[in-house]
Amino acid sequence: MLEAFVHFVHRPTDEGFDSICTACASTVGTGVESELELIEKNHTCDVSNLERFTDHPRSSLVQFFVVCVVLFFMSFAAVALIFEIYQTQNAPEMAERA
Ligand SMILES: [Zn+2]
Repeated sequence: MLEAFVHFVHRPTDEGFDSICTACASTVGTGVESELELIEKNHTCDVSNLERFTDHPRSSLVQFFVVCVVLFFMSFAAVALIFEIYQTQNAPEMAERA
């Protein structure tokens, strides 16, 4: 099922090309274009390999920072929305008074 989404990009090297799977980010082989075709056909994609990126010690800190920034802006949006509702609810009264 996963094979339908698997594509390969080729990075030039001294010997030919590195073939890199875009689904699991693995270098599946090195060679000339004709050799890579067979290598790519035999590649068994394992996206659990991607965990090696999420296990990076900095990634949780970056995620925490992103969440903080998002919450910060969401709180501003919430205050602006409450202020907007407050204003629209009180606007008719203010018009009557004037
Ligand atoms: Zn793969």
